[in-house]
Amino acid sequence: MKKVVTGVDIGGTNTVFGLVDTTGKVIAEGHLKTTDYPVARDFVKALGSGIRKLMADKKNIELMGVGIGAPDANFHRGTIEHAPNLAWKGIVPLADLVKNEIKVPVVVTNDANAAAMGEMIFGGAKNMKDFIVLTLGTGLGSGIVVDGKMVYGHTGFAGEVGHMVVVPGGRVCGCGRQGCLEAYASASGLVRTVSLMISEMREESILRDIPPSKLTSKQIAEAAAKNDPVAVKAMQYTAEMLGFGIVNSIVFTSPEAIFLFGGLAQAGEMLFAPVRKYLEKYNYVLFKKTVKILPSGISESNGAVLGAAALILNELS
Ligand SMILES: [Zn+2]
Repeated sequence: MKKVVTGVDIGGTNTVFGLVDTTGKVIAEGHLKTTDYPVARDFVKALGSGIRKLMADKKNIELMGVGIGAPDANFHRGTIEHAPNLAWKGIVPLADLVKNEIKVPVVVTNDANAAAMGEMIFGGAKNMKDFIVLTLGTGLGSGIVVDGKMVYGHTGFAGEVGHMVVVPGGRVCGCGRQGCLEAYASASGLVRTVSLMISEMREESILRDIPPSKLTSKQIAEAAAKNDPVAVKAMQYTAEMLGFGIVNSIVFTSPEAIFLFGGLAQAGEMLFAPVRKYLEKYNYVLFKKTVKILPSGISESNGAVLGAAALILNELS
């Protein structure tokens, strides 16, 4: 019998799940449309049949447990709580629901913590004890590992670097407050920056031809790679804000590395080079040249599933 776990990545729109062996190989994958299930219990039933179907297609495998990465998930309580991007309102006891459906151990955490766990077990942080993963997608998530352990904190929600205030009285954030890092250093923050810069700058820019509602961080990164002045300036500003968030995080945990993961990190050196520059500029003297800024060591395509699988493997070990 080959031992496998299931990694589940619940997103606002889509859910991906996969059977993963103990070496980090995804041996089968399935999908659900999260939005097809406005009731969490129906979703769990569909997930259960999806996993059982994957298991039935393989021979001689044994399911050890299920790890789930989801927005606004609480590791301590196994719940998803008041997730604004999901139809399931209030507090959903997801770990218990899935445990009842599949009868194996289940752990739940937020997607950024799962990404950090994936980095630690299968990715670029295999030999590190202190590191931080920042997921730069629509928002900014973070997973913080200290002395080989994920930081969950008193509430189970620790590691919300995206809601660190970097500009007092600044941009309105999705959380209802102002000036959070996420409102600047994320794919949506970059788009907001470009929209502002287009109206303030006089330079020619290919981004002016794209309607603001259609503008994506990918287009901005591509324009920056072609030296488009608005795109370059916007990337620099985003990197500077991210730099503030990073130096503020470093003073707490003195990490060996910060991994940048997610859509915006795909901009590669257009983002990494200025982030490194601002890190050196603003970093506190004791930590200068002690922190590496690295791309994720896990492929973007199944990173979230691997992270969730790593989460349960870590619990079972
Ligand atoms: Zn916020």
